[in-house]
Amino acid sequence: MLYIYNTLTRKKEEFKPIDKENNVVKIYTCGPTVYNYAHIGNMRAYIFMDTLRKILKYDGYKLNHVMNITDVGHLTSDADEGEDKMEKSAREKKMSVYDIAKMYTECFLKDIAKLNIETPEHVVKATDHIKEMEEYVDKIVKNGYAYETSKGIYFDTSKLPSYGELSKVNLNDQKAGARIEVDKEKKNPLDFALWIKSPEEHIMKWDSKYGLCYPGWHIECSAMSNKYLGEKFDIHTGGVDHIPIHHENEIAQAKGATGKNPANYWMHVEFLLIDNGKMSKSLGNVYTIEDLEKKGIEPLAYRYLFYTSHYRNKLNFTWDAIKSAQTSLNNLRQLTNMHKNGQNKVEDKILEEIENKFSDAINDDINMPVALSIVWEVAKNKDYSEDYYNLIKKFDKILSLNLDKYQNEEGLEIPEDVTKILDERKLARDKKDFQKSDLLRDKLKDMGYLVKDTKEGQKIERA
Ligand code: AMP
Ligand code: ZN
Repeated sequence: MLYIYNTLTRKKEEFKPIDKENNVVKIYTCGPTVYNYAHIGNMRAYIFMDTLRKILKYDGYKLNHVMNITDVGHLTSDADEGEDKMEKSAREKKMSVYDIAKMYTECFLKDIAKLNIETPEHVVKATDHIKEMEEYVDKIVKNGYAYETSKGIYFDTSKLPSYGELSKVNLNDQKAGARIEVDKEKKNPLDFALWIKSPEEHIMKWDSKYGLCYPGWHIECSAMSNKYLGEKFDIHTGGVDHIPIHHENEIAQAKGATGKNPANYWMHVEFLLIDNGKMSKSLGNVYTIEDLEKKGIEPLAYRYLFYTSHYRNKLNFTWDAIKSAQTSLNNLRQLTNMHKNGQNKVEDKILEEIENKFSDAINDDINMPVALSIVWEVAKNKDYSEDYYNLIKKFDKILSLNLDKYQNEEGLEIPEDVTKILDERKLARDKKDFQKSDLLRDKLKDMGYLVKDTKEGQKIERA
């Protein structure tokens, strides 16, 4: 049984899918705003999304998962102040907004592939769904939850008594003066834009019954989740920064349009900190996956680091921490490979016990630090066994750390043709066929590798 923490109820709850008959889980994930390179903080949110996906699959579910690409409407403040991030970036880089979106979407997809993150079933762009968004706004207007000002169409939060249910804010405590700049035309300070009347200089704008407009950021997620998943789906994911504004407003919009909270479970991943503080351009600590690679760190070492902390705790990134994650990953791979072709037989009962422990951990609100410790326990076992190797490979379907990658202690990756000979040589030695084993050692030497026989098995290095 899978238990997950639901931000909506602030409780760990048993997961029950809507579509029990077909065993399909419907998920929506807020995707990146493609105005710049995604940083490693963003990537925490997507590793989380991927881990959740793979746990659901491990548990036997099928998935229908949507992730959006925000290429319009996300202003420099998550509320309705500032400039459209896309347009600002296009102006600064002297490129068209569409080229900016294309370039950073491609980079994002490359980065997630490097982290072994699966692409969700639907990856959809906001600018391809303007019509659906307009229709969604119309429904909210028709149901009496919105009003027009000179700037656009605004959601009237006073019409929805449950507003604030996700972030648990008390509407009466929200003072208009609390925000620096108050839009005098707004009826309530928390009212937010659904549909924005486009200023002259705004490049992305579409003709609508309210004139040339562009969508607010929150409406895109409501319209696209509704289109691909229907009015009600299972899980909505995002980072904790989405709770007070973006997701609160998504719930309000859905209630305005359909009368329903769109998702049964709202899951949020905590922030990644850098040196225990916020990431910021002025501090020069906004790191990307490429920055890690430039320092000789493998993207999957960052995925390993993700597992060292529970997703609802803050995770602190330091260069020392990522280097030690890389070392641990190298060691775990090496230990895993010691079990390859291992001759010991492990009783089914023991394998089952280990798998149950692993399954309990992942199903307990995605407790990856515990799950990882179980993998280590198996890998460290000195009774080398193919059974353990296969079990680790099964766990790695979730972890996605390429644990079967063959490398030596220093992290040197060993090519497949070399590992094949190593495997052959191990078999020869097990059969005490030392003549063959010596021949194979010479062959490896010709290929540029030195093999040493130690208590722990064969060790390989460059000749
Ligand atoms: P954005 O591209 O700004 O829309 O953000 C993409 C995703 O990254 C969202 O789910 C955010 O909640 C998440 N996110 C942004 N910064 C961080 C961070 N420092 N740690 C974890 N997640 C983050
Ligand atoms: Zn969203």
